[in-house]
Amino acid sequence: MQIDVLPAGPIETNAYLLTSSSGESLLVDAPPDVEGAVRDFLKRRGSNLSGILVTHGHWDHIGDLGNFREDDVTIYAHPGDREWIENPGVMAAFMPPGLNVKPGRVDRWVEDGEVIEAAGVTIEIRHVPGHAPGNILFYFPALGAAFVGDALFRGVVGRFDLPGGDWDALENSIRKRIYTLSDETAIYSGHGPATTVGVEKASNPFVRG
Ligand SMILES: [Zn+2]
Repeated sequence: MQIDVLPAGPIETNAYLLTSSSGESLLVDAPPDVEGAVRDFLKRRGSNLSGILVTHGHWDHIGDLGNFREDDVTIYAHPGDREWIENPGVMAAFMPPGLNVKPGRVDRWVEDGEVIEAAGVTIEIRHVPGHAPGNILFYFPALGAAFVGDALFRGVVGRFDLPGGDWDALENSIRKRIYTLSDETAIYSGHGPATTVGVEKASNPFVRG
């Protein structure tokens, strides 16, 4: 699969557009103001958007999700963040003033351990709460890659001081659900550059493997 990184929105949230050789694309997260770039890349790749994988419900990851409401796509998310996705106004206290986020539509609420097929590939869901109650990662065995939302970044971990955040849960998620992937697994985070499981286990100052 081809991976295009599309950072967007006021705090540079990474959206990822994954395109298979058969011309099907999956979007990981829908930050504010990403819709135009997504539609341009779909045209450029000559592909059809068949799914949106939502890592968690924070406003900077779902800002444009409502713009895909009428698209013929299957949208996946974890029920732990359902209220934020369906009623984003409840996040107003930690959203930039004036940002208007439309409610998102979710077609499949997925849980830890579920395996889904989308765009012709197999994807394993792992629940990694701690940054947000409904943060999940999407692990693509064929790609050797996991899209982890804001649970883990290169050299740092996700914030756990926002509503629903919990340090113990976050540390447990990283140890039990991320560091148990093979060392070579590429980690694509919600902000900043990619890393690997092996690099973070060896050098992340917050959670060593
Ligand atoms: Zn977040």
